[in-house]
Amino acid sequence: IHTDGLRRRRPTHAVAVRWGARTVTIGGDAPVVVQSMTNTPTADVEATYAQTVALARAGSELVRLTVNTPEAARAVVELREKLDRAGIWVPLVGDFHYNGHKLLADVPECAEALSKYRINPGNVGKGAKGEENFAMMIETAKRTGAAVRIGVNGGSLDQALLARMMDENAAKGNLLTPQAVLREALVESAVSSADAAVRLGLPADRIVLSAKVSAVPDLLAVYRRLSERCRYALHLGLTEAGIGSKGIVASAAALACLLEDGIGDTIRVSLTPAPGSPRTEEVVVAQEILQSMGIRAFAPMVTSCPGCGRTSSDLFQRLAASTQAFLRERAPAWRERAPGFESMTVAVMGCVVNGPGESRAADIGISLPGAGESPVAPVYVRGEKVASLKGPDMERDFQDMIEKFVLS
Ligand code: SF4
Repeated sequence: IHTDGLRRRRPTHAVAVRWGARTVTIGGDAPVVVQSMTNTPTADVEATYAQTVALARAGSELVRLTVNTPEAARAVVELREKLDRAGIWVPLVGDFHYNGHKLLADVPECAEALSKYRINPGNVGKGAKGEENFAMMIETAKRTGAAVRIGVNGGSLDQALLARMMDENAAKGNLLTPQAVLREALVESAVSSADAAVRLGLPADRIVLSAKVSAVPDLLAVYRRLSERCRYALHLGLTEAGIGSKGIVASAAALACLLEDGIGDTIRVSLTPAPGSPRTEEVVVAQEILQSMGIRAFAPMVTSCPGCGRTSSDLFQRLAASTQAFLRERAPAWRERAPGFESMTVAVMGCVVNGPGESRAADIGISLPGAGESPVAPVYVRGEKVASLKGPDMERDFQDMIEKFVLS
């Protein structure tokens, strides 16, 4: 067991996900990895490339793609080459269901271009044929060096396994509720499939496990059980989390509880994109969950008050929003020039009641004038008042001061 500074992480195998000479490590004492998935038809190389680049630039450290047809498998190769030509380094993960064994065999260049394969044991086929298909995919991973995620889902659980476990529970007088048997079956499917991959010769440090469900209490129970039963690296995520604030809140609630217990080596927030919202939203949410918990830092976060009857105008809200957007937008450029800037704190406050106090406590903070207050906004740097801003250029002036602070 080791610590990330605030909490103990459960010990897991460290899985290297490689592309070329570089690696993203999942598990062990590596930072919790943020990942996401495209929602374009993979065979549409241009659209998939644009989304992969956007996700990588937003901070997705692995990008997963649906690989469901020979066209999609061939497109993965083209996509990989295009990313390499553009100097965009992000490992690609192939998401396979039903025909993965066939696609990996028929398009060997796709097997090579992917750094990790996601295999759903509920969707590899039934009985001996399913075992054969699974073994074929594991053999391919052994040959190419790809990591493997054994990814079980509540919606596609191996029904034969579930039926057997229900029967066993009935024979014992129904000691467990049907829901508890379902949770046990998810864990059993994930762990036994991973153990089968190890028996086939895939090292345990090439395997990541997930067992996703869509209800928060079920997810907590399943992952706590998984972490008791094995040392495989764990991919956390609430599947089918939903749209808008429901998806964000449910994901944050589930992931925060597990991360607080030291469970989870990589996370994906699965949001249904609201019409017009960018796919990158889920990457930002995943980063903010980790950052809010003090696990990792990606870009400075703005402390701002809710506003109330003392707030004099919507300038305060606009300034809070534009400052957060500015910090995110500038973060990639600052990363090389100002290491550690991600942890700095910025406050944007609405009036004199709590404004000066919170602004002084932040690395840099501004306290806007409330209704009836003098129309100037004092700016504090490390607790000292350094300027008073006013007028129409206040947003730009504050951003300039932040940039100067970061790069000084
Ligand atoms: Fe209201 Fe001022 Fe408190 Fe903001 S700081 S919530 S504007 S009293």
